[in-house]
This record gives sequence, C-alpha cells and structure tokens, in this order.
Amino acid sequence: EVVTRFAPSPTGYLHIGGARTALLNYLYARGRNGKFLVRVEDTDRERSTDAAVKAIFDGLAWLELFADEEPVFQASRADRHREVVDQLLENGHAYRDFLTAEETGALRDAAKAEGRAFESPWRDREPTVDDLEKPHTVRFRRPLDAAVVVEDAVQGAVRWESAALDDLVILRSDGAPTYNLAVVVDDHDMGVTHVIRGDDHLNNAARQSLIYDALGWARPTFAHIPLIHGPDGAKLSKRHGAQAVHEYAEMGYLPEAMRNYLARLGWSHGDDELFSDEQAQAWFDLSGVGKAPARLDFDKLAHVNAHWIRMAEDDRLAKLTLDVHLARGHALGEHDEDRLLRAMPFVKDRAKTTLELADQTAFVLKSRPLALDDKGRALLSGESGERIGRLRDRLQLFASWDVFALEAELKAFAEEEAVGFGKIGPAMRAALTGSATSPDIAKTLAALGREDALGRLDDALQ
Ligand code: GLU
Repeated sequence: EVVTRFAPSPTGYLHIGGARTALLNYLYARGRNGKFLVRVEDTDRERSTDAAVKAIFDGLAWLELFADEEPVFQASRADRHREVVDQLLENGHAYRDFLTAEETGALRDAAKAEGRAFESPWRDREPTVDDLEKPHTVRFRRPLDAAVVVEDAVQGAVRWESAALDDLVILRSDGAPTYNLAVVVDDHDMGVTHVIRGDDHLNNAARQSLIYDALGWARPTFAHIPLIHGPDGAKLSKRHGAQAVHEYAEMGYLPEAMRNYLARLGWSHGDDELFSDEQAQAWFDLSGVGKAPARLDFDKLAHVNAHWIRMAEDDRLAKLTLDVHLARGHALGEHDEDRLLRAMPFVKDRAKTTLELADQTAFVLKSRPLALDDKGRALLSGESGERIGRLRDRLQLFASWDVFALEAELKAFAEEEAVGFGKIGPAMRAALTGSATSPDIAKTLAALGREDALGRLDDALQ
C-alpha cells in the first residue's frame, strides 16, 4: 500500500509551496488507493506555535486536503526517538560525544583551517564509567568508505561521498532528538512508502538514507520536487505577492482552482491545463514532475479560476460573493442572498475571481433610490426619458420575468420605437444600476427581479 505524508513545521501560515507539497502527496496516495497522512513537525518548541498549527490545518481544510488518519505530532514521540537512538548506540551505528560546544567549535575551526572534515575524537574512543556521567550528545556514526546514492523519483540518482558528510548529532545533550533522526523514525513507524517534498530537503535524504540503512529499515521512495519560483524566476518571496494559502482565498480563488493550478505547477499531463480532482488523482505521477523550478503565473491561475467559477454551483458562488460584500462593509439586507443568486448566472461567465463576482453584482445590492450622476440624469430626461417611461409601462404589464422573455420584449420595444438598442441600453442601465456597467439589460432586469427593477425605474423617472 502506498502511504504518503505531509510534514509541515508549524512556524507560520501554510505556504503556497507547502500546499503544493501536501497536494502532490495527497494526489499520489489517492490515485493509488493509498493513504495520505499529516505529521506536524513541532520538535522546535521555540518556533512552533499553536496558532501556526491551526493556520496549517485551516489551510489544508480550505484546500480540502484531509488526511486519512489523525495527525501525528512529532514532539509527542520523543521517547520512541530516544529508543531508536539507543538501538543505534547498541549496534555501533552511533556513539556518545562528550565534547563541549566550545571544544566542538574549536576542533571544527581547526579542521576547516586544514581543509578536512570535522571529526569528533569520541568516534573512536570508548567512554569510561566516569565519562558516562557527563553531559553528551549522540552522533550517528556514518560509514566512511561508502558513497550514498539516493534514487530519487524526480532528481534521478544523486550521489554523495559519505566521507564528505559529517557525523550527525541525533540526540542533543538535553535529550532532545534531532530532526533527521525523528523524520526517519516517524516515517518508518507511520509506514510511509513515498516521501514527496521540496528539493531543499535533498541533502537530508542522504543523511536519512544512511540512518535507514543502519537500522536495517527499507528506505522509502524519495521524490524531491523543485521549489516554486516567482514569475521572474527568482525564489518566491514577498515581493512576488501572496505566499500564504489564506491570501489566495482572500483574493477570490476557489480551492478547486488552486488544486488544479498547483497540481499543474511543475507537473504536466500532456497539454491538459484544466482537470478535475478525479482526473488529477488518476493522472498524477512522479515521472511527470519536472526538475526545473516552476514559475508562478498569475494569469494562468486567473484563467484556471475563471473556469472553476463557471463550473461552480450558483448558490455556492452567491454565498462566497456575499462574504466578499460583507467583508467590504456591506450591511446585509433581507433579500441580498436571493438577489445574488439570481445574478450569478449572468456574471459567472465573466469573472476571474469571487472579488470580480462581487464587483459585478454590486448593483443588485444597492438600496433605493439609487444615486444618479449627471450623465445618468441626462439619459433619463427629455425624449430619452420619455422612451424609458414607455418601456417601464410596458414592462409593468409584462407577466413573465425570465431573461429570454425579457430579451424578446426589449427587442420588440426597440422595433416598435424604431430605434437602435443604443438609444435604450445606457439609459436603462443608468436607471437600473446607477452605473454605466452591468450585464446586458435583460440580464440586469432578471437579476434584480420584477419588483426591484420596476421600483428602480419608477425612482429614476420621477
Ligand atoms: N518539516 C519539514 C518542513 O516543513 C519537512 C520535512 C519532510 O518533509 O521530510 O520543511
């Protein structure tokens, strides 16, 4: 069985790169009837916060990336980690190092000056019973004669001379297990078969592989995916814009669009740009992941989002749009949700984000009487105003308020008056919306509903 995991360190919000890592692990497992797990790597007690844990789970929940089991908190497993350290000590793959931090620093400097790797003298020294009373760290004793080769599913075979690495501290003098040890033990105990993560962890894969080997545990398949870069090709940073997943939610992107876009970022399935979750699960494979960093492309993201807005249910979009209006300070009116729902079919084809849905539906939420500008007032006076008056009278008698019927009625009216629609549209739009932009008039009337539409016309023609 395939088991993948997402292992965030809870030191901040869920980063867009982390979200992609989580997604790819999720897709890989789901597409193979496997399990997707989440492990919170909270061993750094100073930097890990509860708020960050919450932010990460909120971000994953928004993206609808739910784990198949309860999350594992790494810090709670310290005893198990120490147990494995003991095991390594027993079988000679680790040793106690009694150097103080100062001594280590001095020896490290000396080694550097001589151009060789630092080595603790305790690597080859038996501690006495007295020594064992003193504070010490535990180091992993790496094999000196071998090379480490990691067969990475994305990067290919990557090789390190193990002599060039150093003997990693696996247990600190305060008894705290260190990161690389904890990751190996947890991945092993959780049954993780595939470690898909950012390529900033590639060097850790070499160290972790040696630990797996020393314990006689099978290594997982490693897949180190290139990090996300900004549109200019530089490492993603603040100046490129939003980095936190929740900011994308605030910018009006839908979670399914983010999933589609993030899956496509750095991975390809032919020319397919738009795909459903089912397709992503069926198609995603590590062999399609590129080695070069993927660049964030906001135009493409907007295009993908526009597609998923078109595909979304109107009532869901209406709720999301209402939230945007509320966030913008709109006071909720009794019929607002109905009005937004009625308007959705007319605006969802033209919006790239839910913020744009809010822009384009602002007119339905205005309260009467609308404020008209000079241009609007001019359009509604004189001959033009009289014509709109005749149209209003006609619409008042008009029973059906469906968009197609309204369209036909408007057309019939223009023919009867022997004018082009240019003589009707702008004036109607001014009266109905108090602005110069809105969907076409039949749609605007339909979105407003009969009562509100006729009321606005009455107000404007007084
Ligand atoms: N906790 C690490 C991080 O957030 C990930 C470690 C891993 O995936 O092995 O970068």
